[in-house]
Order: sequence, then structure tokens, then C-alpha cells
Amino acid sequence: MKQYQDLQSMSLADIEQVMLQLGEKSYRAKQIFQWLHKHCIDHIDKMNNIPKHTRKQLIEIAPWCKIQLLKKYKSQKDDTIKYLFTLSDHNIIECVFMKYRHGNTVCISSQVGCRMGCHFCASTLEGLVRHLTPGEMLSQVYEIQKDVGERISNIVIMGSGEPLDNMMSATTFIDTITSPIGLNISQRNITLSTCGLVQQIYQLAKLQYQITLAISLHAPNDDIRKQIMPIAYKYSFEELIKACTYYIQHTKRRITFEYALIEGLNDQVRHAKELSQKLKELLCHVNLIPINEIEERSYESTSLSHAKQFQSILQRNGIPTTIRRKLGEDIEAACGQLRRGYLSQQE
Ligand code: SAH
Repeated sequence: MKQYQDLQSMSLADIEQVMLQLGEKSYRAKQIFQWLHKHCIDHIDKMNNIPKHTRKQLIEIAPWCKIQLLKKYKSQKDDTIKYLFTLSDHNIIECVFMKYRHGNTVCISSQVGCRMGCHFCASTLEGLVRHLTPGEMLSQVYEIQKDVGERISNIVIMGSGEPLDNMMSATTFIDTITSPIGLNISQRNITLSTCGLVQQIYQLAKLQYQITLAISLHAPNDDIRKQIMPIAYKYSFEELIKACTYYIQHTKRRITFEYALIEGLNDQVRHAKELSQKLKELLCHVNLIPINEIEERSYESTSLSHAKQFQSILQRNGIPTTIRRKLGEDIEAACGQLRRGYLSQQE
């Protein structure tokens, strides 16, 4: 019989197929799916309406997805909590819980490490270790929901890793977490952030999810983008914008462009003007991010007054632009900082 990565990674159709092969009733699949993804149980023996022998057969085909809380850091300044989890192969991942007015939000990782190599990002400094399974992505949400004891309503796939470099897990994650018989989180409350893998943006568009696609743009042209994001050598600015246009046409969804302001590099008036010209025809929103300074790199953050000037230029050109509030600054709640900090302490 076919083996699966882990039980939590199986779709409802996968479980139905297995039930069929085991000679079980097909309604069992729904019951099992609900135990895993609605009740978020932590052990297979809690499935008390599933026959023992079926549970035993199931766990032989698909091991339980184990992620274990390793450490938890609570911000003193706001309600942000940062988590480190250990995976079954002892790799460590990080995720963040944030309380916003619009709901409880979890920021999850999609890979251990990352191979995209963005110069300002701590997640990628040691490259990609491995993809996360859909089950490992889901378990981050389930574990945090259990820990805070409140319903999670929003998800951002914006932690370590490039989700579109792990497309299978990302899409299975979205399908499962939005399932009406699972946590039933609205697609509109999910944001997926990518550094701009053009081919995968086309694939995602065809799936017509109602999620928010966020593009880490960080530059108004190829020249600057290449200085900070190696992916810009693979796909030009123009190709990326073309893919975004296609995405908007196909999904009718507004795209968010993330733009981390780095002093002297991409934060000048001329950059704001150039960016405005390139984006003004698009159904989009720009999110300006004060860059989090990481120890390993010398990039400095732009001042708030300068960020506001940058914002006003975009706004004058009709582009809705916000400046992202910093949360959890005192607990290194940014992109791979925490895992890295933890790992280097252990050395
Ligand atoms: N790989 C995906 C998602 C993970 S990174 C992506 O590139 O979008 C999530 C976001 O944090 C991206 O916009 C990324 O560019 C940004 N980011 C990474 N390091 C940062 C830092 N030091 N300061 C501010 N933003 C950072």
C-alpha cells in the first residue's frame, strides 16, 4: 500500500482512497479528517469512533505528524508570541502569533531554511535544509491555536522559506485549512508571500484561490532588485509584473507588494516615483516595511518620516500604501532571526 509523508498531510480524497483499500466504510474518511483538522487532536487513539484496527492500519501507512513546542517568547510590548518547534527529524522551525484588530493571526514557515538568498533575510543564510510537509505547516497553526486557547482566523505564509518553491505543500495546506470540515478559515484571510517565482505565480492564478498574494518586490527596477534579491537574475521586473497582471485578471484579487525600505538603496524620492509609474495600472496595494536590521548584514532602516514621504508619493499616484507596524521587535520576531539565534547559542 502507498505510504504517505504523514497523516496530517493527507487530503480527504487520500483518506477516502485508503479507507476503500482497507475495506472500510467511506464515511470514516470524513470522521478521520475532522479529528485531525477540526478537533486537532494530538494522538490517534483519541479517534474514539474509529475502530482500533483501522487506526493501527492507518498509522502504518502514514505516521503521525509530530511537531513539538521547543521554546516560546512573549513580547513585553504587545501580544506577539514567537514559537520555536522541533520537527520529527530534529530540525527547528519558527512561527509567530500576532493579535490584530481584524483577528488572531499566525505567521507560518513553509521550509526549513530557504534557497532564495535574499541579502537582507536571516532565513536564507545557510540555504535550504528541506521542504515542510503540508502536515507540518498545518500543525504550526493547530499547536499555536491550542497554546493561546483562542480561534485563529488569519494566516500569513510569510515565515521562513519560499512557499512557491514548495508548491505542493502550500496548496495542500490551503485546501485543508480552508476545508468546511476542518478549521474552515476563509481563503480571504490567508496571505501567501513570495519573492516572485514567476512560473508558479501563473500556476497559482489558475487555481483561482481567493487568498491574498503578496509579492516581495523591495525595488523599483531590475538594477536595484538584483543587488538584494538573486531571484531578479532569473526573472526580470517586467516578467514579474506581467505575471502579477495575469494573476489579478484571473483571480480578481488585489495584490500586495511588500517593499522593505533600506536606507540609501531603494528609499529615495526617485525610487518612489519610478515605483509609482510601474504599479499605477495595477489593482494593488503597497506595504512599506521598515527593514529589520540583522546582525549579518549592514542594511539600515529608513526613518519613519522618510517612509512617510515615500508613502505620500505613491499615494499621490493613486496607489494605496501603508507602513507596516512593527510587532514583537523585542523578541526578534522577524524572518529567521529567532531560529538562527537559537541555533548559534547551541553551537
Ligand atoms: N519567501 C517569501 C516569504 C518569506 S519572507 C517571500 O520572499 O516573500 C517574508 C517577508 O519578509 C518577505 O517580504 C521578505 O522579503 C521579508 N523580509 C525578510 N527579511 C527581512 C528583514 N530583515 N526585514 C524586513 N523584511 C524582511
